[in-house]
Amino acid sequence: AEEALLQAQKMEAVGQLTGGIAHDFNNLLTGIVGSLDLMQTRIRQGRGDQIDKYIAAALASGQRAAALTHRLLAFARRQPLEPRPVAVDALIAGMEELLRRTLSERVALKIATADALWPTLCDAHQLENGILNLAINARDAMPAGGRLTIAADNAALGRTDARRPAGLAAGDYVRIQVTDTGTGMTPEVIAKAFDPFFTTKPIGQGTGLGLSMVYGFARQSEGHVAIASESGRGTTISLYLPRHRGSAPPGRSSEHEAAVPVG
Ligand code: ADP
Repeated sequence: AEEALLQAQKMEAVGQLTGGIAHDFNNLLTGIVGSLDLMQTRIRQGRGDQIDKYIAAALASGQRAAALTHRLLAFARRQPLEPRPVAVDALIAGMEELLRRTLSERVALKIATADALWPTLCDAHQLENGILNLAINARDAMPAGGRLTIAADNAALGRTDARRPAGLAAGDYVRIQVTDTGTGMTPEVIAKAFDPFFTTKPIGQGTGLGLSMVYGFARQSEGHVAIASESGRGTTISLYLPRHRGSAPPGRSSEHEAAVPVG
């Protein structure tokens, strides 16, 4: 069933690819071909010394196209999940250095993980990728700077709990919230934000895959992801991952192992 779902998701993605990315990719190719054409004309005119700017334009387009296909291939080659007990607080702490390097100096990073966080059952590597994607989105939403907060707490969500998002079964979850003080999203953008290849960013900068990957990861982990955002005020992405209830609580060493960044 999981394979069928994956296949269906891929088909859907391919359908959107032909509509969206193929169009963008074609624009980049047109730019490259146009630059080559102009270079050829200049050389034939004996003005081969004037082709520098066309070379630069072709190179820039080629590099953006290569970055695009690279990320598309990474998406198509998504690894199957390897769920294990994960100590989310240790995982986030282990990412702090990477996050600081990823964010601009104008963005203040705050990490606020609650004490006695439950272990979760999920793929640690994919969780890191997800958090990194959310942080990059937050950074992109705050070009003039701001504050990025990554918080985690335990959320015991009963059936009647008002905090339980629609679409998430009642149960015990660890909630990870990535909050920025950026541009926020309009209701129209929120409605499409999880669609593969939906992006409002310029070609080569956005693939529109970040949130769709986080969504796929959350659902396959039997969790959920929710967006709360207000135009001009900022965004909070809440990621719910199921509590892990092993026969024995995970020891220090296995917690650490699950939290070590891979690759
Ligand atoms: P990408 O970042 O490549 O565009 P995503 O799937 O991660 O792809 O995001 C889709 C779109 O959702 C973005 O282009 C942007 O418009 C919007 N978005 C995502 N995260 C945020 C955020 N933190 N603040 C504002 N808009 C966001």
